[in-house]
Amino acid sequence: MIEWKVPLADVELGQEEIEAVTSVLRSNWLSMGPVTAEFERRFAEYLGVKYAFAVANGTVALHLAHLSLGACLGDKIICPSLTFVATANAIRYTGATPVFADITSLEDLNISPEDIEAKIDENTKGICVVHYGGYPCDMERIMEIAKRHNLYVVEDAAHAPGAEYSSQMAADSSQFRYEISSNNPTNWAKVGSIGDIGCFSFFSNKNMTTGEGGMVVTNRDELAERIKFLRSHGMTSLTWDRHRGHSFSYDVIDMGFNYRIDEMRAALGLVQLKKLDKNNERRRGLCKHYKEKLNDVKEVSLPFSKFKGISSHHIFPTLLSVKIDRKNFMQYLREKGIQTSIHYPPVHLFSYYKKLLRSNNKLPLTEYVGKREITLPLFPPMDQRKVDYVVDAIKRYSSDTRIRSIL
Ligand SMILES: *Cc1c(COP(=O)(O)O)cnc(C)c1O
Repeated sequence: MIEWKVPLADVELGQEEIEAVTSVLRSNWLSMGPVTAEFERRFAEYLGVKYAFAVANGTVALHLAHLSLGACLGDKIICPSLTFVATANAIRYTGATPVFADITSLEDLNISPEDIEAKIDENTKGICVVHYGGYPCDMERIMEIAKRHNLYVVEDAAHAPGAEYSSQMAADSSQFRYEISSNNPTNWAKVGSIGDIGCFSFFSNKNMTTGEGGMVVTNRDELAERIKFLRSHGMTSLTWDRHRGHSFSYDVIDMGFNYRIDEMRAALGLVQLKKLDKNNERRRGLCKHYKEKLNDVKEVSLPFSKFKGISSHHIFPTLLSVKIDRKNFMQYLREKGIQTSIHYPPVHLFSYYKKLLRSNNKLPLTEYVGKREITLPLFPPMDQRKVDYVVDAIKRYSSDTRIRSIL
């Protein structure tokens, strides 16, 4: 195992997390129960939504979202290809087919509203957006397109707990759902609360973590009802209800799943949620420092100089100059103890999806970013000195490799 001087990401768990989990263990109730209910209540309140359902992970959160919105065989769902494969896989679980739309530009790596609209046909049932790196998609335009074509919108907000979207459209914003739920000034809403359903992941490398875990949120009563049953075998009552003597039996009203979370994870989630805003703020500060330091560095350029709202800064993406070989560059940083990553190898280029789609699906911008993107280390307890160390290594790359090639 490599001893990284600067790992790509790192979790920070303390006494509070240890005590929260220990207290669950002492309570003798481990499966979904009161702590989970509290976690859901707090998360819904934080996001400004009516309902939140904690689940086993972010992937099943997405599956439940598409399922409850009625996606099935023959349907097409438009989503980005510049994302983690789970975005597309979750669509496939329902029998529906993902249709990949390109990103907006090399500056805005989020799904392009124009390309979404260009890819709509009579079989399109919905859209799944991903707030890449925690930067909000152009939700105003996407919601407008969805409304005009009668499509549902799922937000894959795995990168974006705490991120906020702001719309410039002040005059006629009443048609947008996010206005209802938000405590923020008009036209501000937490990402994940804008579409029909929002999905979150609490995997270890996300902005808040429970190890494995996820959340499905919605403002719509009928969707909430379906999500609740589908999460737990399609049953009308839960073990916890029966334990409390609230019911003796149950019916099964749908072919559901066991996508529940447990109380230990929910306890972790409650503590992590409390720390989320502060940790996102620390990420923001580090990104600002990176930006200042990388300003005149020709090796990399930085996307997202502008966006609508507030980012949760899940990752720090950069685009490598075309003159530099990415593998060599990553290897060089690795030798300096710096871990980097690629977000993402485009989903439509994976063997499975190439075979499935059998089309010459061309997404030029996505493919370019797939080849040139490199993600630098970013995690809340990373200090500015570590940022400086990474930037110095990047600055030295060109001269060092020139010297190496002479030797
Ligand atoms: C992490 C992630 C997921 C999946 O979440 P899991 O909790 O790992 O199942 C889905 N979409 C995106 C964009 C992600 O980053």
